[in-house]
Amino acid sequence: MRGISIFGSTGSVGKSTIDLIERAPESWKVHALTANSDVVTLAAQARALHADVAVVADPSAYAALRDALAGSGIEAAAGPHALVEAARRPADIVMAAIVGAAGLPPTLAAIDRGATVAVANKETLVCAGDLVRARVDASGATLLPVDSEHNAIFQCFDHAAPGRVARVILTASGGPFRTAAHAVMRDATPAQACKHPVWSMGAKISVDSATLMNKGLELIEAHHLFPVTADQLEVIVHPQSVVHSLVEYIDGSVLAQLGTPDMRTPIAYTLAWPERMATPCARLDLAAIARLEFEAPDLERFPALGLAWAAMRTGGSAPCVLNAANEIAVAAFLDSRIGFLDIAAIVADTLSTMAPAPICSLDEVIAVDAAARASASSFVVKRSR
Ligand code: NAD
Ligand code: MG
Repeated sequence: MRGISIFGSTGSVGKSTIDLIERAPESWKVHALTANSDVVTLAAQARALHADVAVVADPSAYAALRDALAGSGIEAAAGPHALVEAARRPADIVMAAIVGAAGLPPTLAAIDRGATVAVANKETLVCAGDLVRARVDASGATLLPVDSEHNAIFQCFDHAAPGRVARVILTASGGPFRTAAHAVMRDATPAQACKHPVWSMGAKISVDSATLMNKGLELIEAHHLFPVTADQLEVIVHPQSVVHSLVEYIDGSVLAQLGTPDMRTPIAYTLAWPERMATPCARLDLAAIARLEFEAPDLERFPALGLAWAAMRTGGSAPCVLNAANEIAVAAFLDSRIGFLDIAAIVADTLSTMAPAPICSLDEVIAVDAAARASASSFVVKRSR
């Protein structure tokens, strides 16, 4: 039996994780489950899985959570500090599936106690990748990538001899606007942007996939997860999302990991690592798919990808600014306050007003993140409809 805590258990990745562990309940002891404010789902999950503690990030949801868990013996807790406390509980594996930079403090707390951390929460690596890596080195924690591309790279990468790797190529589905005209993108609604052609995901990452910012965040994520330079990273658009990413070796050999687009495959890989476990995912039928397509990304129609490339090369605070501005802009777009094309424009505006600086501590990350959010919020007001 292994202990697990799931941060962001009520989200898309969180629910897929629970779907897998519910198939073998005798193998899992659930320590903590957490949500932002969805008390109903969180309490039901905690009861079904006999969790030790359920935590809501939003303190105003505490009373409702406590009432929903009354008589169950499951502890209720609330607030950002309670999230960090929950990450300190001795689960063998921590699923980091909160969306956004809000996932950073609990993820760092799990890393600091040397846990095995399955990382779905890419924003943590984007806004504080250097810090996360330093804390992993200090504690001996193990990071296992959940993101399908990074999980694919992890499976294909020669970790013992990284010098043999020439290139790492991330695939991108291209999102719902891969072939859309400028006018269609300008007038796109949140519902259209969230209608991903292949993957079913949370709202924020769905919008990121539509702008290609998701692939930009993933470049930065890859830069921190694998010992490769920015020049060794590439992106290729692959609409079928069957080839999840590729690793090229110095002799010209290219290894790829393939599978049907179902997050339960990479999640299962992290849950079972270094073993493997069975999943109910549909099996790959290449004859039925018949064609796999690949094309270069269009940086003119998808400027967010270029902004992320540049922020990765600049380093220091730039990726943190990029991420914070994007979170603010995506939230404003989902709220119908700005247009789809304003998202990348606001990220660019914010990056241009904040000079890059070195970033060494959690306090510095939090300060840069807050300043970038304030700056991006003012650009949202300027561009509001
Ligand atoms: P989601 O929106 O479906 O779920 C997010 C979870 O985080 C929910 O449980 C929510 O309650 C919680 N949460 C939201 N804001 C919070 C806050 N301020 N404090 C604490 N908890 C908060 O998101 P998702 O699609 O499951 O994505 C989660 C993470 O995994 C993201 O970083 C995303 O980029 C990454 N990811 C997701 C997928 C996917 O298929 N969904 C694939 C790869 C990577
Ligand atoms: Mg991905």
